[in-house]
Amino acid sequence: MAELTREQTDELKQLLDRRHQELRADVRQELADSGDERFTELTSGVRDIGEASTAAMLADVNLSLINRHTHEMNRIERARQHIERGDYGICVDCGADIPFERLQGYPVAERCVSCQGRYEKTHLSHATPRL
Ligand SMILES: [Zn+2]
Repeated sequence: MAELTREQTDELKQLLDRRHQELRADVRQELADSGDERFTELTSGVRDIGEASTAAMLADVNLSLINRHTHEMNRIERARQHIERGDYGICVDCGADIPFERLQGYPVAERCVSCQGRYEKTHLSHATPRL
């Protein structure tokens, strides 16, 4: 474990739990919306190509949101496993401690700031732009 006190670890655990619950609620809501209302209405009432593509577009939007959420939920799961194994807060690339302040703002962080920067430059340069 990186140099985190018991209190700090507990705080980060709570952050992860809370975020996980939020995401799960969002996904559930998103599925309910697309399954019960908008999406069903649109697909069942499709008569021309215009409506069909609207339905397809809506499905894509929901799916990409759900994909993003489940991706983040996986990262939260991974962070929890790190906590249990006792190697949470340690950069997976260089082994340096990730500062508590960084984990507070970004509890699923697996890399220190400099390794994250390098990682994003080499792996994510063609990915969708980050906000
Ligand atoms: Zn590092």
